[in-house]
Amino acid sequence: MKIIEKKCPNCGGNLDFKVGERDVVCKSCRRKYAVQYDGIDDLSQLSEKAMEALEAADISLKPVRKFIIILVLVFFSLAAISATISVITMVNRRAEFDRKVKESEEEFDRRTQEMLDEVRR
Ligand SMILES: [Zn+2]
Repeated sequence: MKIIEKKCPNCGGNLDFKVGERDVVCKSCRRKYAVQYDGIDDLSQLSEKAMEALEAADISLKPVRKFIIILVLVFFSLAAISATISVITMVNRRAEFDRKVKESEEEFDRRTQEMLDEVRR
């Protein structure tokens, strides 16, 4: 399984995750991030690899034929990498959670105050 390494935007720690995982948790600060798949980085890497493979194999092809082979390789690469990772969406779920907790606390205080006012009348 392919392992992807990214840096945590919060603490700079390593975020290691496997292709296919939806969430990643920072080992250092425990923040959770959603993983987004789009494959753009992998595509550029794969077309580079295809070029290297052609050159390494020392295939002496006419330029047009070589171009067609690269096109075919890129096409298959595109199909193969539809489920690979290039970008982590920085969704700070913890901050959202804290915000919601604060909101419900405020709501609770407000309602308690309303009830107290009601009773005093
Ligand atoms: Zn972190």
